[in-house]
Amino acid sequence: MADPKGFITTARQTPQRRPVDIRIKDWREVYLDFEPGRVKEQAGRCMDCGIPFCHNGCPLGNLIPEWNDLTWRGDWSDAVERLHATNNFPEFTGTLCPAPCEAACVVGINSDPVTIKQVEIEIIDKAWDEGWVTPQAPAAKTGKKVAVIGSGPSGLAAAQQLTRAGHDVVVYERADRIGGLLRYGIPEFKMEKRRLDRRLGQMRAEGTEFRAGVNVGVDVTVEQLKADYDAVVLSGGATAARDLPITGREAVGVHQAMEYLPLSNRVQEGDLQSSPIDAAGKDVVVIGGGDTGADCVGTAHRQGAASVTQLEIMPTPPSERPDSQPWPTYPMTFKVTSAHEEGGERLFSVNTQEFLKDEAGNLRALRLAEVRREDGRFVPVEGTERELPCQLAFLAMGFVGPEKEGLLTDLGVELDERGNVARDSDFMTTVDGVFTAGDMGRGQSLIVWAISEGRSAAAGVDRYLTGRDVLPAPIAPTDRPMV
Ligand SMILES: Cc1cc2nc3c(=O)[nH]c(=O)nc-3n(C[C@H](O)[C@H](O)[C@H](O)COP(=O)(O)OP(=O)(O)OC[C@H]3O[C@@H](n4cnc5c(N)ncnc54)[C@H](O)[C@@H]3O)c2cc1C
Repeated sequence: MADPKGFITTARQTPQRRPVDIRIKDWREVYLDFEPGRVKEQAGRCMDCGIPFCHNGCPLGNLIPEWNDLTWRGDWSDAVERLHATNNFPEFTGTLCPAPCEAACVVGINSDPVTIKQVEIEIIDKAWDEGWVTPQAPAAKTGKKVAVIGSGPSGLAAAQQLTRAGHDVVVYERADRIGGLLRYGIPEFKMEKRRLDRRLGQMRAEGTEFRAGVNVGVDVTVEQLKADYDAVVLSGGATAARDLPITGREAVGVHQAMEYLPLSNRVQEGDLQSSPIDAAGKDVVVIGGGDTGADCVGTAHRQGAASVTQLEIMPTPPSERPDSQPWPTYPMTFKVTSAHEEGGERLFSVNTQEFLKDEAGNLRALRLAEVRREDGRFVPVEGTERELPCQLAFLAMGFVGPEKEGLLTDLGVELDERGNVARDSDFMTTVDGVFTAGDMGRGQSLIVWAISEGRSAAAGVDRYLTGRDVLPAPIAPTDRPMV
């Protein structure tokens, strides 16, 4: 156990964000490192409770009390070994995860939970700095070939596990760079791409092959895939975005969030001088109150928007955990992300009724109304209609599942009732030897789930190819509730 009295004597502390006026002038991550010594104190708050609910809260089953204890003792190299035992990419979750483990922390029942996510990022950052994260090439090769389609966190986790198990793994990605939403979607200020590139370097050195700019189903046919590989992992994400088919949708200036965010990523990559969709000097409205919406808000601030308003159809969430979402579940409470702290306005219980254009067809405003719930539907509150001036609007209303046309229909995989790729308890689809992991099978979710599913799918593939049972599988598809 870490410090036996730590949870009584030490208050929870989280890292500071850089001052708003400085950070919105650059794209670097917003959080400052902990002062030396502080992470040790925070890790010491872990009670090493008899039943560590954090294990179950974490989709990866991270061994949290073990690495808290090792961190508190200053045994950093063992701490990173325990961290990597369940998570291929702790730097992704340490920067981006909403930390369902913290919601399930036993200290959190009547006090503030352990700052698990911060301990995680401090361990892995130190490990990289010290040179402890090295390639782990397989001890023996199996002679089996596996294609992984899609290079987001699920595909990368599956690829790393399968390469280390001795298979020849090729990761195909239709974008020009590897990384999925970690590369083109999530802004630099949430996770700097150097973290991704460093990990890809390790994977290449281990023997994983990456082929970017290849749209499987178009550039490589399903017949070629089947002929060239012994197994396939589909990890193409849930890329079909929900639209808002209301009057004026065609106005110039209305975009999907995922048309906007990747362009900004490209500016940071050095491909573009400035984004073709630039918020500078404009009134911006973001429709959708979730993480994707918050990423649009933070991006618009950095581009110099005149104003930013985020709309959400649901009511303002409660600030405290409601009775209906008791510990150790993940509560839907009011969150102020770094992007919200940087400015702008948030409106809840509002719905967009129409996009209004000027004579040239450019967006000039949207018409919205307050709404209330009636028989499960949102109905406008009479007399609350108004115009909100805007020249740019971003749709950030979630994703309806994977793209069906092309690869999925050509393969003939069946879909589940939600339109995602159906799979069995080994993550195999209805087509023999074809597996799926991440958002493509699960629907829009989280990075921690994507990594977890990638690991589990890799275990299923390895069993299928070799008959052995050696790779760890944190979950079966139906094991755990959605976060
Ligand atoms: C803007 C945004 C911000 C987010 N922020 C967070 C966050 O802060 N924390 C968090 O936990 N989660 C976040 N998420 C969710 C998280 O990013 C996803 O759950 C996760 O990336 C899913 O991983 P994946 O590997 O399943 O798919 P993806 O990351 O979507 O990767 C799929 C890849 O497959 C490729 N592909 C698809 N079809 C083909 C094909 N036919 N041939 C070749 N390649 C193909 C795609 O180009 C894509 O690169 C965010 C999502 C979005 C959209």
